[in-house]
Amino acid sequence: MSETIAAISTAYGEGGIGIIRISGEDAFDIMKAVFCCSKNPQKNIDSQQEKNEINRRMRYGRIVDKDQVIDEAMAVFMKGPNTYTAEDICEINCHGSMVSLRKTLALVLEKGARLAEPGEFTKRAFLNGRMDLSQAEAVIDVIKAKTDKSFDVAISQLEGSLSQRIVEIRKAILDVLVDLTVNIDYPDEDIEELTYDKLEKSISLISDMIENLLSTADTGRMIREGLRVTIVGKPNVGKSSLMNGLLRESRAIVTEIPGTTRDTIEEALSIRNIPVYLTDTAGIRNTDDKVEKIGIEKSKEAFNRSDFIIFILDGSQAMTEEDLDIMEYLKDKKALVLINKNDLGKAFDIEDVKAILPGADVLETSLINGEGISEIEDLIEALVYGGKIAQKDSIMVNNVRHVDLLKRAKKSLEDAAEMTRRKEALEFIEIDVNSAYENLGEIIGETVSDDILNEVFSRFCLGK
Ligand code: GDP
Repeated sequence: MSETIAAISTAYGEGGIGIIRISGEDAFDIMKAVFCCSKNPQKNIDSQQEKNEINRRMRYGRIVDKDQVIDEAMAVFMKGPNTYTAEDICEINCHGSMVSLRKTLALVLEKGARLAEPGEFTKRAFLNGRMDLSQAEAVIDVIKAKTDKSFDVAISQLEGSLSQRIVEIRKAILDVLVDLTVNIDYPDEDIEELTYDKLEKSISLISDMIENLLSTADTGRMIREGLRVTIVGKPNVGKSSLMNGLLRESRAIVTEIPGTTRDTIEEALSIRNIPVYLTDTAGIRNTDDKVEKIGIEKSKEAFNRSDFIIFILDGSQAMTEEDLDIMEYLKDKKALVLINKNDLGKAFDIEDVKAILPGADVLETSLINGEGISEIEDLIEALVYGGKIAQKDSIMVNNVRHVDLLKRAKKSLEDAAEMTRRKEALEFIEIDVNSAYENLGEIIGETVSDDILNEVFSRFCLGK
């Protein structure tokens, strides 16, 4: 029998209410030991009857330690298996003061519960078959979602959209495995012969299904983790103005003295529902100034960490050595070049920049007037969705663990297809097809080791 666990399930800090959640066999007894309902307990009623009677009913009462009242509270008992963990659960809503919550939790632990590990409630939900592993992982994403879009993707995964697709693909693989096994085990029986042609067709069809899922991975990752964008350019070209334009509020200091953005400034914002982490750098240039140097080192660091770089040029003046140096860095990077201050005249144009950086997107802007901001937002959106239209209910793979397993499954199927083309023994082909089946099973947690489970659930917060 598993132990009964408890934790504070609401965020730390002050709040109107705070919730302590208890899950396990003793949840009911522990609740009774700490929570005193204003209604006198009925006499001559056994605990089974009482459980049925109060099941899912929120009741008002007090948290009491011996004779001392700790807090006023509301408590609800929910009988398993129709609960989050599929076990008996009790939730106590007390005032959202950390003192009250800590005292109540201490009392609950004293009465026999053990402090839950991060993610342990959800782990139990998974182990008790309430949800599969990819759904359990979606719970973290729902909690951590920063934009509407990342929330939508997480909810759809929690509802089982990804699991369902994985189950469909596994079913197709299983059909192939059955065919293979029958032909391996009963080669002389009068069953439909598995031709290599048919086998190859089935395998590539499944491979395509996996590829379709994998093609959503980049978008999925950016929607979930956010896009890292670094703004770079010489002092005074308009980096802070761009940052402000995107933020639509003055968080970075706009100044006319070159070099005042000494360190990098980071802001998190939502652009078209995509989480974007914007870093404004001090620019990359050779300098002896120590403080400035630190900023420059940081710029280079930010450069390497970013998905996308916005390089700003002052279009009213000729390009300098520094500008050319920065563009040298950008040659193998995903970049957008802004020719800014076009209200002040043009010293060069888009074609001149394209001649140096043929792969980059180039825009003319006047950031001081907010011109160019919406085009930049368009480009960021196009980058994330890879030119595809964002569909509300499309299934997206957004988790590195899932991406890795899908890639492994695809590789095994490609190997199997190759062997099929060479008409190798069915036994060898079966090994690869089977490993693809296992890889996909790991996504939904059908074939998964304890180490992986521990790793997945350690990413949760306490009380979930
Ligand atoms: P940073 O040093 O690259 O961060 O540059 P800032 O954003 O601080 O801008 C430096 C100066 O240029 C400020 O006085 C801005 O108002 C001005 N500036 C920025 N963008 C434009 C623009 O498009 N046109 C004009 N005329 N001035 C601009």
